[in-house]
Amino acid sequence: MTELTGFKGIGDKTAEALMRLGISCAEDMVFYFPRDYEEFEAPREIYALTPGRVGTVLCELRQDAAVNRYNGMVIVNVYISDMTGRLQISWYNMPYIRQKLKADSRFVFRGRVYEKNGRLIMSQPKIYDPEEYESSYVGRLMPVYRLGKGISSRLLIKTSAAVLRSSLLDQVSKEFLPKAILDAQALMGERDSLLCIHFPKSRERLYEARKRLCFDDFFLFFMLQKKRKQLFSEQASEYRLRPDMRLLRMTADLPFELTRAQAEAVKVISRDMSSGRVMNRLLEGDVGSGKTIVAFLAMAHTAFCGYQAALLVPTEVLARQHFDKLTELIDKQGLELHPVLLTGSMTQTQKSEARELIASHRADIIIGTHALFQEKVEYDSLGLVVTDEQHRFGVSQREAMKQKGGMPHMLFMSATPIPRTLSMILYGDMDVSVLDSRPEGRLPIKNTVVGPAYRKNAYKFIYDEIKKGHRAYIVCPAIDDGGQDEEPAGEQELENVEDLFLKLRKIFPKEVRIGRLHGRMSSQEKEKAMGELRDGAIDILVSTTVIEVGVDVPEATVMMIENAERFGLSQLHQLRGRVGRGSDQSYCIMINTSKGEEAAERLSIIRDSNDGFFIASEDLRLRGPGDLLGVRQSGDMGFGVADIYRDHELLAPARDSAEQIISGSIPISEDIRKALDERLSRSMENSYYV
Ligand code: ADP
Ligand code: MG
Repeated sequence: MTELTGFKGIGDKTAEALMRLGISCAEDMVFYFPRDYEEFEAPREIYALTPGRVGTVLCELRQDAAVNRYNGMVIVNVYISDMTGRLQISWYNMPYIRQKLKADSRFVFRGRVYEKNGRLIMSQPKIYDPEEYESSYVGRLMPVYRLGKGISSRLLIKTSAAVLRSSLLDQVSKEFLPKAILDAQALMGERDSLLCIHFPKSRERLYEARKRLCFDDFFLFFMLQKKRKQLFSEQASEYRLRPDMRLLRMTADLPFELTRAQAEAVKVISRDMSSGRVMNRLLEGDVGSGKTIVAFLAMAHTAFCGYQAALLVPTEVLARQHFDKLTELIDKQGLELHPVLLTGSMTQTQKSEARELIASHRADIIIGTHALFQEKVEYDSLGLVVTDEQHRFGVSQREAMKQKGGMPHMLFMSATPIPRTLSMILYGDMDVSVLDSRPEGRLPIKNTVVGPAYRKNAYKFIYDEIKKGHRAYIVCPAIDDGGQDEEPAGEQELENVEDLFLKLRKIFPKEVRIGRLHGRMSSQEKEKAMGELRDGAIDILVSTTVIEVGVDVPEATVMMIENAERFGLSQLHQLRGRVGRGSDQSYCIMINTSKGEEAAERLSIIRDSNDGFFIASEDLRLRGPGDLLGVRQSGDMGFGVADIYRDHELLAPARDSAEQIISGSIPISEDIRKALDERLSRSMENSYYV
């Protein structure tokens, strides 16, 4: 760990702001990869500027800049023209800029261009000295990083450049793949690729760097998985379950009948846990396939046999929801189970009470967030750990959880349907159960993809649903209209929760109660909003994608998604999975604000199918390896650079290489071994995969 404050120009304040982006040391900066790149092109004639895009012009000013005031805003304007057209260039609320913009001086301006009443306007461009622009910018790809409060793009670029120039790079970028693999896969060296992913000299080099880092992601993933497999398959379990009548009774008394796939999964899990060896199983099932009840039954079985079972979930909202559902089930059936909830936002007293119940084994089913594996929590005999939405957790968090017991059985639940071909490679080494059928009696969700003009109708439709006692989600891609200091090229205005919330309160009649939910709210606020929706105290929840994970409100029948073109197909499918959970007809309305054909084609897939596995495989088909500079789809599996869809061709080679290292069929030197071990522990800390 190397302190960032040791680098020039980084003070405590900046270091703190970087921390909020997850960059807590200089090593982290090396692995904080750009999310996109900006290409600096040579200045063009005015006619070549495209409205909506970033453009670059070179000019000599004829006059000093003009300063106007409008609506309390100070606007600095210059007007330029060449033989091909005329351009107005404006800066808002930056009065000091006029000092610079004097007659007869030459500049390069680079900024986004708009068309307004037939006039071309470039707004807020950056200003460059023409010689400097020519020599240090033209033809370069500059990194675009994900930004945060108090962190500008310039600052991040400066920081990453400083870190990458320092000797630290040599330490973190030690080669950990043997030459035989580098050659066989035609991979760039580790050091070059880390440098190049931040500051590529060309597109070709960037492509090579990305390929290497994707390979690393997959390779390390398989190394960890294979190591764990070795560990588990040799391990005898101290928690050996026996058949228990109470489990059968509990199953028979459920308010519904298990689907064939659920029943099979329950059987296999019980068998695993009775086998005398440690279970290491993945339960994969589409949204709404009913994974939770399978987990409940596995936990109940563990508890009936005298051990404790823990359910680890990624959010407080979800922890509370699972806890309430389980408690309700226990009360209804009069089961002898003692669940307890443990989350970070509980008061100290509540937490220590919970810990006491756990340590004394008066609680046998423990549901909670990462608080479950904090140091102070001691288990009496933890026999089973279930992780819901497994991809949301780092490996080290799960390892920590494992430390809590001797070697508990592990059940991972995932709602990311992965095409069969990829799943076989990714999880080939794990035991997997798939829930491939949905509970019966559900009506398929009705989907529609429409343009913004349809919004009015959608609101009316939602109002009609609410009058029937139903509830609705409206999802936006952004929290508010600020947030980001600078937006990279190509981004347009996005719908946001705060503005839409205010707008909808005016549009809907008073009796319609509207709430909001987003990631910047405290956990208490979030839980309150979710609780209100669940209890029917609000009718419409305006939210970001935070509701994506696992939330179950059967009364919700409408999901409206703004800027649907902004989301990946799998993510849209997850979002849509929040409705269609009860017996009423549910609807998903996707607003497509893009005019592009590609977006329309993508969205038509999700419109025409409700099958997560099919959607995932179409996603795979549509996304060729082509979009080198494309922004990685969020969510999926939390790899640093790699995307299992886009980069699927690297999966099998990475798996085979890991196999060769583990089996010793490719010998490695002491240096490489050491570097590899270092990298593996680094990925354990930071990765989010099984
Ligand atoms: P997910 O797999 O997405 O986690 P859940 O476990 O939340 O899905 O289940 C979705 C809903 O389906 C819940 O309300 C649950 O009670 C219900 N459910 C689960 N299994 C069945 C079943 N076999 N028959 C009817 N409803 C079921
Ligand atoms: Mg779930």
